[in-house]
Amino acid sequence: MTLLELRDVAVTYRSATGDVPAVRGVSLALAEGEALGVAGESGSGKSTLAMSLLRLLPRDALVSGEILLDGEDVLTMSWGRLRAVRWASASLVFQGAQHALNPVRRIGEQIAEPLRVHGMATGAAARRRTAELLEQVGLPAWRARGYPHELSGGQRQRVMIAMALACSPRLIVADEPTTALDVMIQAQVLSLIRSLIAEHGIGLIMISHDLSVLAATCDRLAVMYAGRVVESGPSREVFRDARHPYGRALAGAFPTVGDPASRMAPSGLGGDPPDPAHLPTGCSFHPRCPVSLVSCASEPVELWPVSRTGADRTETGRAGASHTAACVHVRVPEETR
Ligand code: ADP
Repeated sequence: MTLLELRDVAVTYRSATGDVPAVRGVSLALAEGEALGVAGESGSGKSTLAMSLLRLLPRDALVSGEILLDGEDVLTMSWGRLRAVRWASASLVFQGAQHALNPVRRIGEQIAEPLRVHGMATGAAARRRTAELLEQVGLPAWRARGYPHELSGGQRQRVMIAMALACSPRLIVADEPTTALDVMIQAQVLSLIRSLIAEHGIGLIMISHDLSVLAATCDRLAVMYAGRVVESGPSREVFRDARHPYGRALAGAFPTVGDPASRMAPSGLGGDPPDPAHLPTGCSFHPRCPVSLVSCASEPVELWPVSRTGADRTETGRAGASHTAACVHVRVPEETR
């Protein structure tokens, strides 16, 4: 069953110097218990999208489209309903969240806070639930009596995950949850997130600039560029066989013309992601694209189903395709160009 559905979501920041269209028409769906990774370079609109899911954007952000959580549009909910939904139905673990813990309050009190606010448990029941949550994230229950400064960065991030789990939400949005951690700890925290969502059937939207991290953690991937999803599909397919040149570069596997064996990192593309206030015409990626055609500078592109082989480039193949990419090379098969 669909847990979350985004329909044509757009976010524009209004500023004195002009509008910044940070997210431009994103449509995505997440099934119950599914993990979706959203990848892209800095500035591609990932955090804006993540914050929009729980209506946590600043006031100058204009949001349109629909964000249906269990069929209910988050964008039109009353503030009272939204408060009930946050933590209880959907919670957020954000980048550097480990620094958000209050240094002068005991860890147990902080984990129990969402339980108290949502009237789910107080007193001894809250203490029991806190101990259980600490154990779930791999920390001993006695840590509840301690303070954040007694924990390492990785342990503090585990506490934030415990808080996110406290009210048994059906959706967790994790924005770069491990970016501030060193590689070993990052792997441990990722495997913890993966096992917790699988065990509790929680839907996960995980944001990262690192496609390989997402591919190892998530069932499906969506690659964002300049506020749009430019490729999406099953993780293995997108990571190993990305069809959008940007997706391929993020996967570190873009063969350059004349040297099919060479591999390019996204930085190897040259140039920077575009300023959303001054987007290139046509395909936003065309100025950096190693395989762009003349038409890419003027013709807009849409997500197009990726066919696995030449033989299944048919209407039937399209209807069933779950791997999509917004690139003229996908839309128009080579032999017909
Ligand atoms: P990412 O998470 O992929 O790094 P963001 O969602 O943070 O991307 O940013 C997308 C674009 O929106 C960037 O160009 C950024 O400068 C712009 N932006 C983010 N927050 C604001 C804001 N409060 N006001 C104006 N522009 C913003």
